[in-house]
Amino acid sequence: MKISVIGCGYLGAVHAASMAEIGHTVVGVDVDEEKIALLAAGKAPFVEPEFDEMLARNVEAGRLTFTTDFSQVSDAQVHFIGVGTPQGPDGSADMTYVNAALDSLLPHMGQADGPSIVVGKSTVPVGTADSIEQRVVDAGAILIWNPEFLRESFAVQDTLRPDRLVYGVSKDAERAEVSQRILDEVYATILELDTPRLIMDFPTAELVKVSANSFLAMKISYINAMAEICDATGADVTMLAEAIGLDDRIGKKFLRAGIGYGGGCLPKDTRAFQARTEQLGLNSLDFMSDINAINDRRRKHAADLAIEALGGDVTGKRIALLGAAFKPNTDDMRNSPSIDIAKMLRDAGADIVITDPAAGPVLKVRRPDVPVADTAHEAIKGAEATLLLTEWDEFKNLDPTTLEPAGKIVIDGRNSLDPDTWKNAGWTYYGMGRN
Ligand code: NAD
Repeated sequence: MKISVIGCGYLGAVHAASMAEIGHTVVGVDVDEEKIALLAAGKAPFVEPEFDEMLARNVEAGRLTFTTDFSQVSDAQVHFIGVGTPQGPDGSADMTYVNAALDSLLPHMGQADGPSIVVGKSTVPVGTADSIEQRVVDAGAILIWNPEFLRESFAVQDTLRPDRLVYGVSKDAERAEVSQRILDEVYATILELDTPRLIMDFPTAELVKVSANSFLAMKISYINAMAEICDATGADVTMLAEAIGLDDRIGKKFLRAGIGYGGGCLPKDTRAFQARTEQLGLNSLDFMSDINAINDRRRKHAADLAIEALGGDVTGKRIALLGAAFKPNTDDMRNSPSIDIAKMLRDAGADIVITDPAAGPVLKVRRPDVPVADTAHEAIKGAEATLLLTEWDEFKNLDPTTLEPAGKIVIDGRNSLDPDTWKNAGWTYYGMGRN
């Protein structure tokens, strides 16, 4: 089947390559010429495990092409929309890119053999699909909403072997049936793996995505609130999380206290969800303000802890920051806690140096004013304090006896180090909600 994917960022590029991998002919479209040139040459514009090889393989095989020219999609039967929905100034999702993508796409519809479908994958406010359906129908196609649940750093695996597929379908029974049948054909190899496929209306499908992300954010902020209580009482949040996580109603995942969540999804999706419910005249999500406030506090807490550990004044003091990406195995620094903490320490006068195996090279290009070290050893050499901010394996596995800091202070922003190993090597260890 011929497929187009509009928007080739972290979601779209991986989706395009994955669809080619399962045998479709795919054209990826983006307005970013630089990104398209890289992708068309089979080169990944970002770091994502397993993606490079899959991209190169499918470009080479001729199943996967990339363009900035929307007319190239006219004979595709399926059009995935994966453009960004960033946070607008009032917290709500900025729909400019989704609307622009539809404006560019819809005039080229209708040359495929058989009915065409437009498949929404971007994370959008509830009510979006209902509001755009008529435009899609007028262009001769059918709209279906298929929210994406991939996790960066597991994006390929999550696209090819998802936990579940959610289809939001039209109220019109015929459109619903046809769009579902075509999307089933697209995902045939994934459905053969017994992947649960849930069919629902548009608003429910939109809500599944944002409510899942809000729930995950809530879990993280919950354990971070416990970390604050542990800090105040001398308790240990890692033991607490282990003990409550053994209750399978609670579960262990997303219960690691630290400097909180970041990235291109959780922070903006929780705020957009809250903004949307306020527009609907509901206050059901007032508690999300606390969840976001707890998350913001964690960043400040880590910076304050470093300043306090260094005697209250960090002016001119070298501080090593291990990690810039919002999580390991990606170079994505969108809303990264590390970057905020770096800014806070820099504003306080510290001489910061950052290292990150994937985001470091990106940072060097984007922010030549920020000192970036190639390795943790190089960053820590001569530093008066070290903060672990992204839990890359190579940071977790550092042997503290091999480092040459000026001061043996380590702040473990992800509770990922073994405190005893560092203490035994003479370091003063500060965890998040544990000593
Ligand atoms: P991104 O910023 O990496 O990519 C968006 C891409 O859309 C960019 O390459 C941009 O140039 C392109 N674009 C913007 N306007 C366009 C237009 N008019 N026509 C064609 N291309 C256009 O964002 P992302 O992380 O890939 O996220 C995309 C959407 O997917 C968002 O709604 C996000 O919330 C959702 N999502 C992301 C993830 C994730 O882990 N990144 C997971 C699930 C859902």
